[in-house]
Amino acid sequence: MAMVRIILLTLLLVGTGEARPRPNELGCQKNLRDLGTAIEMYSTDNQGQYPSSLKAICPQYLASIPTCPSARVDSYSASYTSERRPDSYVVYCCGSFHPSHVNHPAFTSVHGLVERPGATTLGTCQENIKRAAQLVREYRKKHKKLPDKLSQVAAPVCPGSSAEYLYHPRPNRQDFVLECGGLSAHLGDNIRPYQPRYDSAASAGVVSEVSPVVAAGPPQPEPLGANQMQLAGLMALAVFLGLVTLGPRAR
Ligand SMILES: [Zn+2]
Ligand SMILES: [Zn+2]
Repeated sequence: MAMVRIILLTLLLVGTGEARPRPNELGCQKNLRDLGTAIEMYSTDNQGQYPSSLKAICPQYLASIPTCPSARVDSYSASYTSERRPDSYVVYCCGSFHPSHVNHPAFTSVHGLVERPGATTLGTCQENIKRAAQLVREYRKKHKKLPDKLSQVAAPVCPGSSAEYLYHPRPNRQDFVLECGGLSAHLGDNIRPYQPRYDSAASAGVVSEVSPVVAAGPPQPEPLGANQMQLAGLMALAVFLGLVTLGPRAR
């Protein structure tokens, strides 16, 4: 019984430990928020246009480019990209300074802070694009031809951009390609260039995989946080107590 209780306690602590961002990550998130604020201030003074590089915001809108506590170098400037019409930008902590969160946290004009991959509407967009493809296939089966326009099948739209998917019937009039046209809709997710895409001619018509832009920067694991230290101690204790409890019975 004691063993069960210890295991449950350990599992509980594992859960809460993972949910809480590490101190270095919080510092990095704050840096990105500060950068976002400065970038917005710049755009207000420049007819809505975002700066072409982060250099443009210093020192008028931000004293200097902050440093991520994990990276200890400027891990933001190289990642910054902006676009015009629609005006958008993305900036992120470039590299693997926060383990398992490559190129994150990120900050985008569309989503604000994106703490980790998969925290935006990308998953829903992938589901929607598959649903749209299904509707096109049903239309093709019923009418023996592809629809001319996607609006003929009342397809769902991308949740990030609220825009209809780009629809390209192939010359053979049987196959088609659907693409998420919202260039800035999923900027925070495994960053760019990335758009969910469906090709009915590809094997199983799968939505293309995420292709992360992994920029230079050696992997530098963060030192163990307080939570993990605590956890490691508890695990050891659980194993020890387990051995003590089970020991006599095993013999
Ligand atoms: Zn960082
Ligand atoms: Zn989309």
